[in-house]
Amino acid sequence: MSVSRARIARAPFGATRDGRPVDAFTLANARGLEVHVITYGAIIVSLRTPDRTGQLDDIVLGFDTLDRYLSDSPYFGAVVGRYGNRISGACFTLDGRTYRLASNDGPNHLHGGTRGFDKVLWDANPFDDVRGVGVVLVHTSPDGDEGYPGTLRARVSYTLTDRDELVVEYHATTDRPTHVNLTQHSYFNLAGAGAGGVQDHELTLHASRYTPIDAALVPTGEIAPVDGTPLDFRTPTRLGARIDASHEQIRNGRGYDHNLVIDRNGADVAHAAHATEPTTGRILDVYTTEPGVQLYSGNFLGANGGVVIGKSDHVYGARSGFSLETQHFPDSPNKPQFPSTVLRPGENYRSRTVFAFSAR
Ligand code: BGC
Repeated sequence: MSVSRARIARAPFGATRDGRPVDAFTLANARGLEVHVITYGAIIVSLRTPDRTGQLDDIVLGFDTLDRYLSDSPYFGAVVGRYGNRISGACFTLDGRTYRLASNDGPNHLHGGTRGFDKVLWDANPFDDVRGVGVVLVHTSPDGDEGYPGTLRARVSYTLTDRDELVVEYHATTDRPTHVNLTQHSYFNLAGAGAGGVQDHELTLHASRYTPIDAALVPTGEIAPVDGTPLDFRTPTRLGARIDASHEQIRNGRGYDHNLVIDRNGADVAHAAHATEPTTGRILDVYTTEPGVQLYSGNFLGANGGVVIGKSDHVYGARSGFSLETQHFPDSPNKPQFPSTVLRPGENYRSRTVFAFSAR
Protein backbone atom coordinates (compact mmCIF):
# COMPACT_ATOMS: atom_id res chain seq x y z
CA MET A 1 0.00 0.00 0.00
CA SER A 2 1.43 3.34 -0.93
CA VAL A 3 1.54 5.80 1.92
CA SER A 4 1.63 9.01 -0.08
CA ARG A 5 1.17 9.67 -3.75
CA ALA A 6 2.11 13.32 -3.49
CA ARG A 7 4.03 14.27 -6.57
CA ILE A 8 5.42 17.13 -8.54
CA ALA A 9 6.14 17.41 -12.26
CA ARG A 10 7.52 20.06 -14.60
CA ALA A 11 6.53 20.58 -18.24
CA PRO A 12 6.89 23.31 -20.87
CA PHE A 13 4.04 25.86 -21.18
CA GLY A 14 5.05 27.85 -24.26
CA ALA A 15 7.32 30.87 -24.47
CA THR A 16 7.09 34.61 -23.86
CA ARG A 17 7.00 37.01 -26.84
CA ASP A 18 10.77 37.41 -26.57
CA GLY A 19 11.26 33.65 -26.71
CA ARG A 20 11.90 32.79 -23.08
CA PRO A 21 10.50 29.37 -22.12
CA VAL A 22 7.73 29.20 -19.54
CA ASP A 23 7.33 26.13 -17.35
CA ALA A 24 4.30 24.61 -15.70
CA PHE A 25 4.50 22.73 -12.42
CA THR A 26 1.91 20.21 -11.39
CA LEU A 27 1.57 19.74 -7.65
CA ALA A 28 -0.62 16.84 -6.58
CA ASN A 29 -1.29 15.55 -3.11
CA ALA A 30 -2.12 12.08 -1.82
CA ARG A 31 -5.83 12.88 -1.89
CA GLY A 32 -6.03 13.86 -5.53
CA LEU A 33 -5.93 17.65 -5.31
CA GLU A 34 -3.97 19.10 -8.15
CA VAL A 35 -2.57 22.58 -8.72
CA HIS A 36 -0.92 23.85 -11.90
CA VAL A 37 1.40 26.81 -11.52
CA ILE A 38 3.33 28.51 -14.30
CA THR A 39 6.50 30.55 -14.08
CA TYR A 40 4.91 33.45 -15.99
CA GLY A 41 3.22 35.67 -13.39
CA ALA A 42 3.50 32.86 -10.80
CA ILE A 43 0.01 32.11 -12.10
CA ILE A 44 -2.20 29.34 -10.75
CA VAL A 45 -3.64 28.06 -14.02
CA SER A 46 -5.84 25.36 -12.53
CA LEU A 47 -6.80 23.93 -9.19
CA ARG A 48 -8.73 20.67 -9.02
CA THR A 49 -10.50 19.76 -5.80
CA PRO A 50 -13.13 17.11 -4.96
CA ASP A 51 -16.79 17.86 -4.43
CA ARG A 52 -18.89 16.05 -1.79
CA THR A 53 -19.01 12.89 -3.95
CA GLY A 54 -15.26 12.93 -4.59
CA GLN A 55 -15.65 14.29 -8.13
CA LEU A 56 -12.67 16.48 -9.05
CA ASP A 57 -13.21 19.72 -10.90
CA ASP A 58 -11.19 22.80 -11.73
CA ILE A 59 -12.37 25.64 -9.48
CA VAL A 60 -10.34 28.62 -10.75
CA LEU A 61 -10.84 30.70 -13.88
CA GLY A 62 -8.02 30.78 -16.39
CA PHE A 63 -6.79 30.01 -19.89
CA ASP A 64 -5.54 26.87 -21.65
CA THR A 65 -2.61 28.58 -23.36
CA LEU A 66 0.12 31.01 -22.40
CA ASP A 67 -0.83 33.27 -25.28
CA ARG A 68 -4.05 34.29 -23.61
CA TYR A 69 -2.24 35.11 -20.36
CA LEU A 70 0.20 37.24 -22.36
CA SER A 71 -2.50 39.22 -24.13
CA ASP A 72 -5.60 39.84 -22.06
CA SER A 73 -5.78 38.25 -18.64
CA PRO A 74 -7.69 40.06 -15.89
CA TYR A 75 -5.01 38.84 -13.46
CA PHE A 76 -6.43 35.30 -13.50
CA GLY A 77 -4.56 33.32 -10.82
CA ALA A 78 -1.57 35.66 -10.78
CA VAL A 79 0.64 36.96 -8.03
CA VAL A 80 0.04 40.69 -7.94
CA GLY A 81 2.90 43.04 -7.10
CA ARG A 82 4.60 45.17 -6.16
CA TYR A 83 1.34 46.50 -4.82
CA GLY A 84 -2.03 44.77 -4.86
CA ASN A 85 -4.93 47.04 -5.75
CA ARG A 86 -4.92 50.81 -6.22
CA ILE A 87 -2.59 53.66 -5.33
CA SER A 88 -4.38 56.95 -5.90
CA GLY A 89 -2.91 59.43 -8.33
CA ALA A 90 -0.26 56.78 -9.14
CA CYS A 91 1.99 58.55 -6.70
CA PHE A 92 3.27 58.48 -3.12
CA THR A 93 5.68 60.36 -0.93
CA LEU A 94 8.08 58.38 1.24
CA ASP A 95 10.72 59.95 3.51
CA GLY A 96 10.08 63.30 1.85
CA ARG A 97 10.57 62.09 -1.71
CA THR A 98 7.72 61.78 -4.20
CA TYR A 99 7.58 58.78 -6.51
CA ARG A 100 5.48 58.68 -9.69
CA LEU A 101 4.19 55.24 -10.57
CA ALA A 102 2.77 53.93 -13.81
CA SER A 103 -0.91 54.94 -14.10
CA ASN A 104 -2.83 52.05 -15.62
CA ASP A 105 -6.32 52.55 -14.16
CA GLY A 106 -7.38 56.05 -15.15
CA PRO A 107 -5.16 58.36 -13.14
CA ASN A 108 -4.49 55.63 -10.56
CA HIS A 109 -2.02 52.77 -10.25
CA LEU A 110 -3.49 49.24 -10.18
CA HIS A 111 -1.87 45.91 -9.28
CA GLY A 112 1.74 47.04 -9.72
CA GLY A 113 1.39 48.95 -12.99
CA THR A 114 1.63 48.16 -16.69
CA ARG A 115 4.09 45.33 -16.17
CA GLY A 116 3.50 44.12 -12.66
CA PHE A 117 4.57 40.82 -11.13
CA ASP A 118 1.72 39.09 -12.96
CA LYS A 119 3.57 39.79 -16.24
CA VAL A 120 7.13 38.76 -15.39
CA LEU A 121 8.89 35.45 -15.66
CA TRP A 122 9.81 34.01 -12.27
CA ASP A 123 12.64 31.56 -11.56
CA ALA A 124 11.29 28.40 -10.02
CA ASN A 125 12.48 25.56 -7.84
CA PRO A 126 10.25 22.65 -6.88
CA PHE A 127 10.45 20.94 -3.49
CA ASP A 128 8.97 17.86 -1.86
CA ASP A 129 9.39 17.62 1.91
CA VAL A 130 7.51 17.27 5.20
CA ARG A 131 5.43 20.37 4.45
CA GLY A 132 4.10 18.90 1.19
CA VAL A 133 4.94 19.41 -2.46
CA GLY A 134 5.57 22.87 -3.74
CA VAL A 135 7.39 25.37 -5.82
CA VAL A 136 9.38 28.44 -4.82
CA LEU A 137 9.33 31.31 -7.30
CA VAL A 138 11.74 34.22 -7.17
CA HIS A 139 11.85 37.52 -9.01
CA THR A 140 14.07 40.58 -8.67
CA SER A 141 12.37 43.84 -9.55
CA PRO A 142 14.95 46.53 -10.37
CA ASP A 143 15.15 49.94 -8.69
CA GLY A 144 12.65 52.23 -10.44
CA ASP A 145 10.53 49.38 -11.83
CA GLU A 146 7.07 50.84 -12.61
CA GLY A 147 8.23 53.88 -10.62
CA TYR A 148 8.93 52.13 -7.30
CA PRO A 149 12.14 52.83 -5.42
CA GLY A 150 14.49 50.03 -4.41
CA THR A 151 15.63 46.74 -5.84
CA LEU A 152 12.98 44.38 -4.56
CA ARG A 153 13.88 40.70 -4.21
CA ALA A 154 10.58 38.84 -4.02
CA ARG A 155 9.91 35.20 -3.27
CA VAL A 156 6.60 33.38 -3.39
CA SER A 157 6.10 29.76 -2.48
CA TYR A 158 3.13 27.53 -3.13
CA THR A 159 2.85 24.41 -0.97
CA LEU A 160 0.15 21.80 -1.41
CA THR A 161 -0.24 19.86 1.82
CA ASP A 162 -1.84 16.50 2.49
CA ARG A 163 -4.43 18.36 4.56
CA ASP A 164 -5.79 19.79 1.30
CA GLU A 165 -4.36 23.23 1.84
CA LEU A 166 -2.61 25.47 -0.61
CA VAL A 167 -0.21 27.58 1.42
CA VAL A 168 1.07 30.76 -0.20
CA GLU A 169 4.06 32.42 1.46
CA TYR A 170 5.60 35.70 0.40
CA HIS A 171 8.97 37.18 1.28
CA ALA A 172 10.71 40.32 0.06
CA THR A 173 13.69 42.53 0.81
CA THR A 174 14.73 45.89 -0.57
CA ASP A 175 17.86 48.05 -0.78
CA ARG A 176 15.92 51.35 -0.48
CA PRO A 177 12.74 52.23 1.42
CA THR A 178 9.72 51.25 -0.65
CA HIS A 179 6.13 49.97 -0.44
CA VAL A 180 5.15 46.30 -0.87
CA ASN A 181 1.79 44.55 -0.84
CA LEU A 182 1.73 41.16 -2.56
CA THR A 183 -1.36 39.07 -3.12
CA GLN A 184 -2.81 36.14 -5.02
CA HIS A 185 -5.50 36.90 -7.59
CA SER A 186 -7.28 33.58 -8.21
CA TYR A 187 -10.92 33.83 -9.26
CA PHE A 188 -12.83 30.97 -7.65
CA ASN A 189 -16.00 29.26 -8.70
CA LEU A 190 -16.48 26.32 -6.35
CA ALA A 191 -19.13 24.84 -8.68
CA GLY A 192 -16.38 24.58 -11.30
CA ALA A 193 -14.80 27.22 -13.53
CA GLY A 194 -17.28 28.06 -16.29
CA ALA A 195 -20.31 26.76 -14.37
CA GLY A 196 -21.97 30.20 -14.40
CA GLY A 197 -22.37 32.89 -11.77
CA VAL A 198 -21.05 32.72 -8.23
CA GLN A 199 -24.03 34.47 -6.64
CA ASP A 200 -25.28 31.28 -4.96
CA HIS A 201 -22.06 30.75 -3.01
CA GLU A 202 -22.62 31.31 0.67
CA LEU A 203 -19.96 33.49 2.18
CA THR A 204 -18.81 34.26 5.70
CA LEU A 205 -16.23 37.01 6.24
CA HIS A 206 -14.77 37.47 9.70
CA ALA A 207 -14.67 41.22 9.30
CA SER A 208 -16.63 43.84 11.21
CA ARG A 209 -15.11 46.78 9.37
CA TYR A 210 -14.21 47.71 5.80
CA THR A 211 -12.59 50.52 3.88
CA PRO A 212 -15.28 52.39 1.89
CA ILE A 213 -14.39 53.34 -1.70
CA ASP A 214 -15.15 56.22 -4.02
CA ALA A 215 -16.47 55.81 -7.59
CA ALA A 216 -12.90 55.15 -8.85
CA LEU A 217 -12.69 52.21 -6.38
CA VAL A 218 -10.09 53.99 -4.24
CA PRO A 219 -10.52 53.94 -0.45
CA THR A 220 -11.82 57.20 0.97
CA GLY A 221 -9.55 56.68 3.98
CA GLU A 222 -12.38 55.89 6.34
CA ILE A 223 -12.53 52.60 8.25
CA ALA A 224 -16.24 51.96 8.70
CA PRO A 225 -18.34 49.32 10.47
CA VAL A 226 -20.07 46.82 8.17
CA ASP A 227 -23.20 46.98 10.34
CA GLY A 228 -26.32 47.58 8.27
CA THR A 229 -24.42 47.50 4.95
CA PRO A 230 -24.25 44.88 2.15
CA LEU A 231 -20.64 44.34 3.31
CA ASP A 232 -21.78 42.55 6.43
CA PHE A 233 -20.94 38.87 5.87
CA ARG A 234 -20.38 38.03 9.53
CA THR A 235 -23.06 35.39 9.29
CA PRO A 236 -23.27 33.08 6.24
CA THR A 237 -24.93 35.02 3.41
CA ARG A 238 -25.45 34.37 -0.31
CA LEU A 239 -22.88 36.34 -2.26
CA GLY A 240 -25.63 37.47 -4.60
CA ALA A 241 -28.15 38.44 -1.94
CA ARG A 242 -27.19 42.13 -1.87
CA ILE A 243 -24.80 42.34 -4.84
CA ASP A 244 -27.10 44.77 -6.69
CA ALA A 245 -28.40 46.56 -3.62
CA SER A 246 -29.19 50.22 -3.88
CA HIS A 247 -26.29 51.24 -1.69
CA GLU A 248 -23.60 53.75 -2.53
CA GLN A 249 -20.78 51.28 -1.86
CA ILE A 250 -22.30 48.66 -4.13
CA ARG A 251 -22.78 51.29 -6.85
CA ASN A 252 -19.17 52.43 -6.47
CA GLY A 253 -17.90 48.85 -6.64
CA ARG A 254 -20.33 47.74 -9.41
CA GLY A 255 -20.97 44.94 -6.94
CA TYR A 256 -18.34 43.80 -4.44
CA ASP A 257 -14.87 45.24 -4.90
CA HIS A 258 -14.01 46.10 -1.31
CA ASN A 259 -11.30 45.63 1.25
CA LEU A 260 -12.64 44.08 4.46
CA VAL A 261 -10.72 44.52 7.70
CA ILE A 262 -10.22 41.06 9.19
CA ASP A 263 -11.15 40.55 12.83
CA ARG A 264 -7.87 39.01 13.95
CA ASN A 265 -8.68 38.46 17.62
CA GLY A 266 -4.96 38.17 18.33
CA ALA A 267 -4.38 35.33 15.83
CA ASP A 268 -1.14 35.24 13.83
CA VAL A 269 -2.91 33.55 10.96
CA ALA A 270 -6.54 34.65 11.23
CA HIS A 271 -9.56 32.95 9.71
CA ALA A 272 -10.68 35.53 7.14
CA ALA A 273 -13.27 33.78 5.01
CA HIS A 274 -15.41 30.69 4.61
CA ALA A 275 -17.22 30.05 1.31
CA THR A 276 -19.49 27.13 0.46
CA GLU A 277 -21.14 26.15 -2.80
CA PRO A 278 -24.49 24.41 -2.27
CA THR A 279 -24.73 22.17 -5.36
CA THR A 280 -21.26 20.60 -5.06
CA GLY A 281 -20.71 21.05 -1.33
CA ARG A 282 -17.24 22.47 -1.95
CA ILE A 283 -15.84 24.66 0.80
CA LEU A 284 -13.02 27.18 0.74
CA ASP A 285 -11.52 28.58 3.94
CA VAL A 286 -9.00 31.40 3.85
CA TYR A 287 -6.54 32.10 6.67
CA THR A 288 -4.00 34.89 6.57
CA THR A 289 -1.44 37.01 8.35
CA GLU A 290 -2.69 40.04 6.38
CA PRO A 291 -4.95 42.70 7.92
CA GLY A 292 -7.34 42.83 4.96
CA VAL A 293 -9.03 40.85 2.23
CA GLN A 294 -10.38 42.22 -1.04
CA LEU A 295 -13.72 40.68 -1.92
CA TYR A 296 -14.04 41.10 -5.68
CA SER A 297 -17.10 39.57 -7.30
CA GLY A 298 -15.73 39.52 -10.85
CA ASN A 299 -17.89 42.49 -11.86
CA PHE A 300 -15.65 43.53 -14.73
CA LEU A 301 -15.44 40.08 -16.34
CA GLY A 302 -16.92 40.29 -19.82
CA ALA A 303 -17.67 43.96 -19.17
CA ASN A 304 -18.80 46.27 -21.99
CA GLY A 305 -20.61 43.45 -23.78
CA GLY A 306 -17.41 41.44 -24.27
CA VAL A 307 -17.00 37.87 -23.15
CA VAL A 308 -13.99 36.05 -21.83
CA ILE A 309 -13.48 32.61 -23.35
CA GLY A 310 -11.62 30.60 -20.77
CA LYS A 311 -10.34 27.06 -20.31
CA SER A 312 -12.11 24.35 -22.34
CA ASP A 313 -13.97 27.12 -24.23
CA HIS A 314 -16.04 28.02 -21.20
CA VAL A 315 -17.57 31.48 -21.37
CA TYR A 316 -16.82 33.59 -18.32
CA GLY A 317 -19.40 36.32 -17.85
CA ALA A 318 -19.58 38.98 -15.17
CA ARG A 319 -19.58 37.43 -11.71
CA SER A 320 -18.55 33.97 -12.89
CA GLY A 321 -15.72 34.00 -10.36
CA PHE A 322 -14.89 35.79 -7.12
CA SER A 323 -11.60 36.50 -5.51
CA LEU A 324 -10.48 36.82 -1.92
CA GLU A 325 -7.20 38.73 -2.17
CA THR A 326 -5.48 38.82 1.19
CA GLN A 327 -3.62 42.10 1.48
CA HIS A 328 -2.73 45.31 3.24
CA PHE A 329 -5.32 47.95 2.49
CA PRO A 330 -5.44 49.60 -0.94
CA ASP A 331 -3.79 53.02 -1.17
CA SER A 332 -1.96 52.62 2.15
CA PRO A 333 1.02 54.63 0.81
CA ASN A 334 -1.32 57.66 0.79
CA LYS A 335 -3.36 56.76 3.86
CA PRO A 336 -1.16 57.11 6.98
CA GLN A 337 -4.06 55.89 9.15
CA PHE A 338 -3.90 52.44 7.45
CA PRO A 339 -1.40 49.75 8.53
CA SER A 340 1.93 50.60 6.94
CA THR A 341 3.20 48.90 3.77
CA VAL A 342 6.67 50.43 4.00
CA LEU A 343 9.60 48.04 3.66
CA ARG A 344 13.06 49.28 4.57
CA PRO A 345 16.52 47.88 3.91
CA GLY A 346 17.37 45.18 6.47
CA GLU A 347 13.70 44.31 7.04
CA ASN A 348 11.92 41.20 5.85
CA TYR A 349 8.50 41.43 4.25
CA ARG A 350 6.66 38.23 5.18
CA SER A 351 3.10 37.25 4.50
CA ARG A 352 1.27 33.93 4.59
CA THR A 353 -2.13 32.86 3.32
CA VAL A 354 -3.69 29.41 3.52
CA PHE A 355 -6.47 28.35 1.15
CA ALA A 356 -8.05 25.22 2.66
CA PHE A 357 -10.36 23.02 0.59
CA SER A 358 -13.00 20.59 1.75
CA ALA A 359 -16.52 19.41 0.89
CA ARG A 360 -19.64 18.54 2.78
C1 BGC B 1 -9.73 44.87 -8.18
C2 BGC B 1 -10.75 45.15 -9.26
C3 BGC B 1 -10.14 44.84 -10.58
C4 BGC B 1 -9.74 43.38 -10.56
C5 BGC B 1 -9.10 42.92 -11.84
C6 BGC B 1 -9.38 43.43 -8.24
O1 BGC B 1 -8.42 43.15 -7.31
O2 BGC B 1 -10.18 45.23 -6.93
O3 BGC B 1 -11.20 46.48 -9.21
O4 BGC B 1 -11.02 45.09 -11.63
O5 BGC B 1 -8.85 43.14 -9.51
O6 BGC B 1 -8.12 43.77 -12.21
